[in-house]
Amino acid sequence: MRLVLVGPPGAGKGTQAQYIASNLSIPKISTGDIFRANVSGGTDLGKLAKTFMDRGDLVPDEVTIAMVRDRLSEDDAQDGFLLDGFPRNVAQAEILRDMLKDWGLALDLVLELVVDDDEVVRRLAGRRTCSQCGRIWHVEFDDKKDDKCDACGGALFQRDDDKEETVRHRLEVYQEQTAPLVSYYAGEDILVGVDATGPVEEVTQRAMEAIRPYLG
Ligand SMILES: [Zn+2]
Repeated sequence: MRLVLVGPPGAGKGTQAQYIASNLSIPKISTGDIFRANVSGGTDLGKLAKTFMDRGDLVPDEVTIAMVRDRLSEDDAQDGFLLDGFPRNVAQAEILRDMLKDWGLALDLVLELVVDDDEVVRRLAGRRTCSQCGRIWHVEFDDKKDDKCDACGGALFQRDDDKEETVRHRLEVYQEQTAPLVSYYAGEDILVGVDATGPVEEVTQRAMEAIRPYLG
């Protein structure tokens, strides 16, 4: 099974990627992991990527794509993979399609985690981080009434990334980038949406049910 997972920030994509990949016995391939592996392994691509990151610049598409190509060529990805964080836009999706086509392959499925914006805001804007131990609490889900960490007594604060205004902005950016990608895959007839609200296990179960018809 060759699978791409897309979803907004706060949809629990990283967690679902891990569970789904493990259920299907395929590697979870995220761009973050690929970057770290190349940089810490000191590959030529890693060294190149690092020159951009050290300057605070974005790593160019060509470098990311070359890393993805290398990773998909590895032995463990020959019987399938789950891509998380790539492709990010239609141009990358077309490159991925051509890359797979060169190998006589194609994507089987693109799974979209669907959560409405207000739910994402509720999840992310309710997070409080401990200034001492770094543990994250949720005002609603953990029923946090005070501003102290239950683990170490440290003061809790809201990270800038979790502020409602920032979350809404990240959602807008996501929509702008991803809406065309989702339409592209809908046009290819390989897009399936999965309701990503509710407990983690239930979301995984829904995802597995959505995948089942596509398993060879
Ligand atoms: Zn703490």
